[in-house]
Amino acid sequence: MRPLILVAGLLLPALADPLPRLYRVEHYDVRIELDPAAGRLTGDVVIRFESTTENLVSLDLDAGGLTVSSVEEAGKRDYFERQGEHLIVVLNAPANPGEPRAVEIHYRAGSSKGVEISATGASAGYFTSHWMPANDRIENPAALALSIAAPAAWKTAAAGQLVRERSEGGQTVTEWSVDGPPQAPFLYAFAAGPYEERKAVVKQTGGSEVGLRVLGGADILVQTKAALEFFAQCTGRPYPRDSYTQVFASGQSGQEAVGLTLLPESYAKTLAAKPQDLWLLAHELAHQWYGIGIPIKSWSDFWLSEGLATYLADAFLERQYGRQRYQAEIAHSQGIYEDLKSKGKDRPLSFEDWTTPDEAGGGLPYHKGAAFLALLRAQMGDDLFWKNLKAYTRDNWGKRVTSEDFQKAMEQDPGKKQKPREITKLFDSWVFGVASGKTREGKSRQ
Ligand SMILES: [Zn+2]
Repeated sequence: MRPLILVAGLLLPALADPLPRLYRVEHYDVRIELDPAAGRLTGDVVIRFESTTENLVSLDLDAGGLTVSSVEEAGKRDYFERQGEHLIVVLNAPANPGEPRAVEIHYRAGSSKGVEISATGASAGYFTSHWMPANDRIENPAALALSIAAPAAWKTAAAGQLVRERSEGGQTVTEWSVDGPPQAPFLYAFAAGPYEERKAVVKQTGGSEVGLRVLGGADILVQTKAALEFFAQCTGRPYPRDSYTQVFASGQSGQEAVGLTLLPESYAKTLAAKPQDLWLLAHELAHQWYGIGIPIKSWSDFWLSEGLATYLADAFLERQYGRQRYQAEIAHSQGIYEDLKSKGKDRPLSFEDWTTPDEAGGGLPYHKGAAFLALLRAQMGDDLFWKNLKAYTRDNWGKRVTSEDFQKAMEQDPGKKQKPREITKLFDSWVFGVASGKTREGKSRQ
């Protein structure tokens, strides 16, 4: 995600409600049909879930501003009601652990938070509950099957892999699947429009091929290929899917999804004027490793996604344009961090005490995160830093991580060249505390 969109009240919609959800969604099967002329979509979703408690009588789902027309279970209608952005479904019979259940919801959506639907294109990212009902919480990753019916002349892209495509009643229907490790709904997204399409194939070390695709905007295939190869090399892990698509989408500001990135339309103009302005391209691609390949367990360690993606983008720019460019990027992050500090907004990178979405997000996870990683690399030296980053990536792939996982990997020093205490001190003062002295021990006593 791009830090600019972290506006108070708009980020992390699931945090506003602290009540635990006593069920887990396993799978969403979503079908949407775009109606560009009307500026809306109609959809239905089958949500397969399982209760985590005895006798669960209702489901509390996130449903943004959706208009829900009916909810059914095994062909029988369920009572439902809207409470703000929630959809409460009263189940026909109580649900119990070990008992797979499913509800089917029919709904409509228009342009809304993160969702744009118009005659010139449609796209949606991050605010998933504004285009499909979901348990939109990071703690509930799930599998997704998504079918999109769009005008025949449009090109479509969505999270996951393209499974099949067919023509039907003057429309093109594409089917997508997020399989493999389940993913949190905020990483689902789609875009469709009368885009120009560019394609290339990258052959990775080890033999796997990745189909690159760019819709709209600018031709960035060569730059994307360079970034993809760099990340594969410095993380020790090839790009994990067989396709990667970037869409220059109206109304979007930079958002990663599974195998897909939405970029702002204005970024094409930026690149035309300044071809070396590849930070956003690289940052969003880096999320395919950090944030998606290795998801975070909770928003408390958001920096492990955003700080690492920011730092990897800085390292890519170093590779492309030299040390001076890297130093300028790090100085930029340090400047933003210093500014936050001067406003009294410093806090540990791993921050469990947030009470508002603003506290978990904001610029801090990105820029304090990148500044910390630059310091860590300077302290450890290049060899050990990249070696340990590779070990972190290898050992945690597909797991949901915390800052402790990252620290454990980065403190490894088989050659005993470092003073481990120095690395631990850096983690204590930057990740678990702030330089003014709050430490992990202090925190745990609170
Ligand atoms: Zn990001």
